[in-house]
Amino acid sequence: MQVALVTVGDELLAGETTNTNAVWLSRRLADSGATVERVTTVPDRVGDIARVVNEYQAEYDAVIVTGGLGPTHDDVTMEGVAAAFGTELAPDEEAREWLETETRYEAADLAPETTHIPKTAEMIRNPEGVAPGCIIGNTFVLPGVPVEMKGMFRLVADEFVGEQRYVRTVQAAQAESELLDTVESLRSNFDVTVGSYPGKTVTIRIKGLEKDTVETAASWVAQRVNSPE
Ligand code: ATP
Ligand code: MG
Repeated sequence: MQVALVTVGDELLAGETTNTNAVWLSRRLADSGATVERVTTVPDRVGDIARVVNEYQAEYDAVIVTGGLGPTHDDVTMEGVAAAFGTELAPDEEAREWLETETRYEAADLAPETTHIPKTAEMIRNPEGVAPGCIIGNTFVLPGVPVEMKGMFRLVADEFVGEQRYVRTVQAAQAESELLDTVESLRSNFDVTVGSYPGKTVTIRIKGLEKDTVETAASWVAQRVNSPE
């Protein structure tokens, strides 16, 4: 399953906020077997959000958008997503009911826009906050506040399960440049993907769909590199 992430926020582009949502989501998706193909940050601008979401929802199996959900004037993500799907925002009855019955807020005390989501979307409740998220087509819209984003992602995480991948790592106590040929042969001899990550030793990370293949590949490479003391 191929997924694109769109993080929305002027503060991300200005370097005022570190984009921890992109890192957290990429990691979670990779762990569940989905492949993240794009991570794009766009400003809080309807046209920019609409353009990118429209392109990605056509290109990838799923899109996750985070940030800019609140009802304040600078939060325009829902509007952008609605435009991407050629629809508009409307108050959502389910969101209003949820706010009134399951949170400590009264819908009447909140800005009316709080319950507005694109017309054909299904709302996702926010276990940690007020602004609901939504699902429209293959696109999931989540809040920007990290604790809220994580809480809401957990409600939809099952949608992102791909094929399980097996992973083995092998440590090599030598320069990464000396490992190029070995890594190259590893890639061509086995049906696996290989990453190499230099640190105190080089970590060779082997990933594949079949456990036996991954283990055979790991032993094969372990015999060809200098193992650390
Ligand atoms: P709110 O309803 O509180 O306005 P929101 O869903 O509209 O939430 P934003 O307004 O985009 O979200 O951001 C709220 C907070 O979350 C800000 O402090 C922002 O810096 C932070 N935030 C937004 N996006 C990210 C991100 N990608 N990574 C880390 N923090 C983020
Ligand atoms: Mg906001």
